[in-house]
Amino acid sequence: MTRPIRLEIDLSAIRHNFQFTRQHAQARRLFAVIKANAYGHGVLDTAKALADLADGFALLNIEDAVALREAGIQHPIALLEGPFDAAEAAAMAEYRLSGAVHSLEQMDWLAKGSARGAVEVWLKVNSGMNRLGFPPAQLNEIQARLRTMPQLRLSTIMTHFSSADDDYGVDEQWRRFAPLAQASGLETSAANSAALLRHPHTHGDIGRPGIILYGASPFDSATGTELGLRPAMTLSADIIAVQTLQSGDAVGYGRRFIAGQAMRIGIVACGYADGYPRIAANGTPVAVDGQASGTVGRISMDMLAVDLSHLPQAGVGSRVELWGAQVPIEQVAAAAGTISYELMCAVATRVPRVLRG
Ligand SMILES: *Cc1c(COP(=O)(O)O)cnc(C)c1O
Repeated sequence: MTRPIRLEIDLSAIRHNFQFTRQHAQARRLFAVIKANAYGHGVLDTAKALADLADGFALLNIEDAVALREAGIQHPIALLEGPFDAAEAAAMAEYRLSGAVHSLEQMDWLAKGSARGAVEVWLKVNSGMNRLGFPPAQLNEIQARLRTMPQLRLSTIMTHFSSADDDYGVDEQWRRFAPLAQASGLETSAANSAALLRHPHTHGDIGRPGIILYGASPFDSATGTELGLRPAMTLSADIIAVQTLQSGDAVGYGRRFIAGQAMRIGIVACGYADGYPRIAANGTPVAVDGQASGTVGRISMDMLAVDLSHLPQAGVGSRVELWGAQVPIEQVAAAAGTISYELMCAVATRVPRVLRG
């Protein structure tokens, strides 16, 4: 007896999406980005599913990296933001983790060293995102210093694009980064999913695909399925009650939806405490037993309502896909004023997970 909601993860879709990325990318190597619990898909399951395909993995939390090592993953693992303190810098050597260096503090932590040997370092350049990274003007000095530090081995120069997915594009950042990369003689890493699909001149040595591995599109203009990707995550829940409304009846908190005519609605065992966005508009797409419909009224903590007026055969026990192969997560995200990434990462731990593939 469990609440009728589940998150299905299709590992064969993640593998398909990796191979799709490989076909479209010029990068010599691809590090699968599996931060944030592999965008909600499960960091260990995803890493194992990609073990024979990916050249390496990139993530944030050292705890996840250590868990991968303890599970037997021998691949290169890069910490995208580098160490957060001296203990992490030492653990990087112990667990053979490489990582970004974007600050003088990190250089000090790494300088303390570890008996376990040198840490592989990716020098992070702020080419215009203005989040992390050294400014281009400081790069010569920083590189010179890094090259004198025996506790680390500088292998790669990296940057991150703010607008690889939109019309602004990457030109301005690439103009700043490319000459530094060339002069450094290091391996280069710049491209996220959007750049891997749209800006081949930026691919360099190591591509860093994230969202496309999970089957969603980085672009507003197309869904993942339209690009040739397969959605790896399906969130679905069952109808647990049916209500018959007369014209003028309201649904849910704040009476945000008022029936304009007689209608039937289904109450679904999924709410914002499961990770479905509370702010989703009336009419956010769902599929009821495979048939298109939409939400009605405000999303509650544990429930939401969907229109069944045109689906007389649907009722208690019908399965409602909230996003997945039938309901593009990009459309749900758009109806909630956000992006697929946020929905994937926000699925709550109380939702039971089912692995496929
Ligand atoms: C998250 C992240 C990526 C992957 O981005 P996607 O848009 O999901 O492909 C790549 N590089 C860095 C530094 C990141 O933080």
